[in-house]
Amino acid sequence: MNFTDLNLIEPIAKAIQEQGYTNPTPIQERSIPEILKGSDFLGCAQTGTGKTAAFAIPILQNLSKNKTKNNHIKALILTPTRELAIQIEENINAYGKYLPLKQLVIFGGVKQGNQEAALRKGIDILVATPGRLLDFIAQGIISLKNIEIFVLDEADRMLDMGFVHDVKRVIKLLPQRRQTLFFSATMPSEIQKLADSILNNPVKVEVTPVSSTAETIKQSVYFVDKENKLDLLSHILENDISDSVLVFSRTKHGADKIARKLQKDNISAEAIHGNKSQNARQNALNNFKAGKTRILVATDIAARGIDIDELKYVINFELSDVSETYVHRIGRTGRAGAEGSSISFVDSLDLLNLRNTEKLIGKKIPIIKDHPFHTDNLVAQKRDSNNKPMSGGGERRPQRSPKPQNNSNKPAGSTPTGFKKPKNKNFTRKK
Ligand code: AMP
Repeated sequence: MNFTDLNLIEPIAKAIQEQGYTNPTPIQERSIPEILKGSDFLGCAQTGTGKTAAFAIPILQNLSKNKTKNNHIKALILTPTRELAIQIEENINAYGKYLPLKQLVIFGGVKQGNQEAALRKGIDILVATPGRLLDFIAQGIISLKNIEIFVLDEADRMLDMGFVHDVKRVIKLLPQRRQTLFFSATMPSEIQKLADSILNNPVKVEVTPVSSTAETIKQSVYFVDKENKLDLLSHILENDISDSVLVFSRTKHGADKIARKLQKDNISAEAIHGNKSQNARQNALNNFKAGKTRILVATDIAARGIDIDELKYVINFELSDVSETYVHRIGRTGRAGAEGSSISFVDSLDLLNLRNTEKLIGKKIPIIKDHPFHTDNLVAQKRDSNNKPMSGGGERRPQRSPKPQNNSNKPAGSTPTGFKKPKNKNFTRKK
């Protein structure tokens, strides 16, 4: 299918073409016609599937067709993190650049003055995080009574981040008659219940369930003792990878430590996490996107929704206790069909998480042995909340000791660490 088959109005078709999109992604193929018709929609899809355009394009088209003169907020998109909110607004801005609609993003952690001034001028589409939205509502600056379309984005993450009550408060303030679009990467029962309670006979579409990792992402594991992880990271970044890399750290403190070590080794790096101001996070992200900083070290929440074109490498400095996190992390690369690679550092504290992750994704991740820090002596241990081994002893490491890696196990054209030097991407979004 081509975008021209979707009956998009000229200003949107032109903007999409300028983005370099030719074919809709699977979720867009299903969502765009249904949302244009006015149906409620339930999309089980993670970031990287093109879900932002899946709702943004038909919203823009519907609003521009029914554009009334007033500047009341007509579409509300609620999303859990600031980064995601900013990105959604950027996308709406790009797809709607030839339309007379106004959109705005609001989020907490910054002074409200500019956001308030923009709201007072009148906007059609609002992208918001729950806390700041409720704040503005409480101050009488925002009213939701003219909302025609409501999008709940990343509903499962809202739950994880403890926003579910805020979300329910927002929902109570929406008009009964409206179109609702609901997106979630996973559908735990609480989220399913929430979806059932706010959707009216929705069209349901599930793409790339969370347990299936994108096939274009080459995944690998490095066995390494905890104390050697920082050196292994520098080694890989100095010898095997010359591109930009997004590195995931479990903790804020860890993210800072990793960035400091890389800087010491003359590898340009910055860290983003919840303790940094919104401006510092945005600057670090901009530097990374512009190629000024080669390595961005992020915690999961800070990295959620980061949309970086042409990101080819993700490194998991530790594996998360929540296996789904692995899928979200490596989904930062290989976006919308592009090639990408992920490397996971596994020490004794990561072994159980590796096992659970492999169970979730339904496959073994190949182990790369030919690096100076490889160890065969890991013993699975649980970690406490401080990233330290729990007392009470460990468990013998599972019998999945890798066979010595020989070249026949490696993909053709691989580097010493087993990574194929990336080819040009199949498609790139034009800036
Ligand atoms: P999302 O899942 O919304 O975070 O989108 C993932 C990435 O795919 C973003 O970089 C989008 O700009 C890009 N994208 C979305 N739709 C398309 C499309 N139809 N063709 C090419 N790229 C797309």
